[in-house]
Amino acid sequence: MSLNEDRAAPGKRREHSAQLVIATAAVVFAVMVISGVLSASYAIAGFAIVALAGFLALRIGRDAKGAAPPYAISEPTNNPLRTVVSGLPDPVIAIDREGRVLALNDPARALAPALRHGEPVSLALRMPELIEAVGRAFAQGETQRAEYSERVPVDRWFEAVAMPVKRAADTAAADMVLLTLRDLTPLRRVEEMRADFVANASHELRTPLAALSGFIETLQGPARNDTQAREKFLAIMQEQARRMARLIDDLLSLSRIELNAHRRPDAPIDLNPIVRQVVDGLQTLARDRGVTVNVEAADAITVFGDRDELVRLFENLVENALKYGAAGKRVDIKLAPGTAADGEPEASVSVRDYGPGIAPEHLPRLTERFYRVDVRESRAQGGTGLGLALVKHILNRHRGRLSIESAPGAGATFIVHLPAAGPRPSQ
Ligand code: ADP
Repeated sequence: MSLNEDRAAPGKRREHSAQLVIATAAVVFAVMVISGVLSASYAIAGFAIVALAGFLALRIGRDAKGAAPPYAISEPTNNPLRTVVSGLPDPVIAIDREGRVLALNDPARALAPALRHGEPVSLALRMPELIEAVGRAFAQGETQRAEYSERVPVDRWFEAVAMPVKRAADTAAADMVLLTLRDLTPLRRVEEMRADFVANASHELRTPLAALSGFIETLQGPARNDTQAREKFLAIMQEQARRMARLIDDLLSLSRIELNAHRRPDAPIDLNPIVRQVVDGLQTLARDRGVTVNVEAADAITVFGDRDELVRLFENLVENALKYGAAGKRVDIKLAPGTAADGEPEASVSVRDYGPGIAPEHLPRLTERFYRVDVRESRAQGGTGLGLALVKHILNRHRGRLSIESAPGAGATFIVHLPAAGPRPSQ
């Protein structure tokens, strides 16, 4: 059946239109259930409402003969197909047997601005995979899937589903194809990040593991009876084992914090004793490095927080200042109340060292997992490359943020901003 034949008989056309709306709604709700946008129960309820509306429209149309203009696919206004398509969240294009656009929604328009009603879809969508999928859907009467990617202006990946739609069950061929595009880019990016993360973590673990295996072989072989060498190697092996333990500990902390990321801590907590506890715990390291740590505190400075996580956060910052800024011989910590950009009260804690500082190109990347300015120095200092990533995740969970000010030769200041405890936060 061609779409033009419809114009011949208004009554029949109206009936077909209602059937088309109901068939479209069935397909649309099925797509939403398959793509996880809607649960099955909502989809069934939604479909029932559309089907009822279609049925009623048909009845009213029959009762008031000629009163309302009959629906036709080519009419630009009051087109139920367009109404349904325009309400869908993913890019959707309805295409007729001649390959022309019957309906499209805003997400589809944003993706391919050249798409126009009534014009061939192949003019605007220059992906052969898509056009072929639409052709196959018409020819075989079955849903077709295709994946394609765009390289310009940025890498993006899409999955296209071309679903043939018949207006009536008794027609042999599909009257149109609903082309739904799903943006897979965020999914791909997460997959890439996960793969990178696993590769980095494995690499970090493999290095000390290789050292341990090497020393074990040496102790079993050439150095079997060399007491002096054995003592030396055992000390190195112990350090490597500690490094692996630190890494595993940091990885577990990261995943635990990520798991709880959506649950904002709601216990009011004073930051003063936390910072003091951290500084006391790092006294040995400070002494070893010849660094004096000064703390300048306000009275009570209360935030909603998780005690252990906040201890971990300040431990990382103060330890970094001691490790990387030792040359300055001094670390200053200052706790002060302040005001955030949105006017809300906040607590700020700055950790300032007077070491060699950090070049500006590194600053935006410091909180990435395993990012280090100097890998060798970080390893020599017992670093895992995860400290500032942990800081960032803890702050995200606390709805806080980190700012870093530094210039080569001028030391570094890491400033933690946390919303001050007002009324209890909502999740
Ligand atoms: P690491 O375990 O290597 O210390 P972090 O995530 O804590 O990992 O820090 C990432 C990198 O940031 C460090 O390797 C170091 O190069 C740099 N860095 C962190 N704090 C400072 C600081 N206070 N001064 C200079 N560089 C720093």
